[in-house]
Amino acid sequence: MSFFIVITLASCSKSDEDIMEEPQTNTFIKKGQFGGQDITYERKNGMNFFQGDIVLSDQQLTEDNSVNKGGASLSRWPGGKIYYTVASNMGSINANKITNAVNEYNNKTNTQWIPRTNQTNYVEFIFGSSSGYDGWAHIGYRGGKQNISLDQNISLGSVIHEMGHTVGLYHEHCRKDRDQYVSIQWNNIQNGQAYNFDIYDSGTDIGPFNINSVMMYWPDSYSKNGQPTIKRANNTNFTYNRTGFTTGDINTIDTMYP
Ligand SMILES: [Zn+2]
Repeated sequence: MSFFIVITLASCSKSDEDIMEEPQTNTFIKKGQFGGQDITYERKNGMNFFQGDIVLSDQQLTEDNSVNKGGASLSRWPGGKIYYTVASNMGSINANKITNAVNEYNNKTNTQWIPRTNQTNYVEFIFGSSSGYDGWAHIGYRGGKQNISLDQNISLGSVIHEMGHTVGLYHEHCRKDRDQYVSIQWNNIQNGQAYNFDIYDSGTDIGPFNINSVMMYWPDSYSKNGQPTIKRANNTNFTYNRTGFTTGDINTIDTMYP
């Protein structure tokens, strides 16, 4: 995911540092099919990054997703039970953030995050980098082991955001109806990153558009010049939320997991 650092701390983007290390920025930008829709994604470190911080498996990109197509998640966790482990090198600061984020989910939503004992299907919180502010996560329930990556300096709200991807949430700004509510400032987006602002038609929009969603990109996500890349449709700025769930986020999750 990412966020980033230099100019923007985008909730969901990828790190500018990583981009700059590549000899050619677009070397690993690829086209593929996901959920029956043509998408653009980034191949990096052997993983497929969609919308910045959502990781798709190779299988998800190649299989016929007609069965799964249309859900707000590719697949949901059975019974809303999400078993998890925390990598031994996570460190106490991020371990505490995980505990707090798990409490948010368990206290406010119909999902239950439960420490794993011997379950086969689970998510592991892994440690990203000691200097970063980002995270990423596999989308929805995959079966087997899947990951959520957390950098040392990630915020609690962004931990909640990444866990939202695990639950099956995409980004709010990619909803089909987003152009009624926000205006993408294409001229301010970094070269080669515009695909992160594509509408994802194959998702299901639940409830009204929620610009305060914890799943919304930040206003200057992937900005090349410090200017906003997303504004309200009336051309005014908005304030991002990475404090925690809004009522709309909770309602969305509980619609997915009744
Ligand atoms: Zn994200």
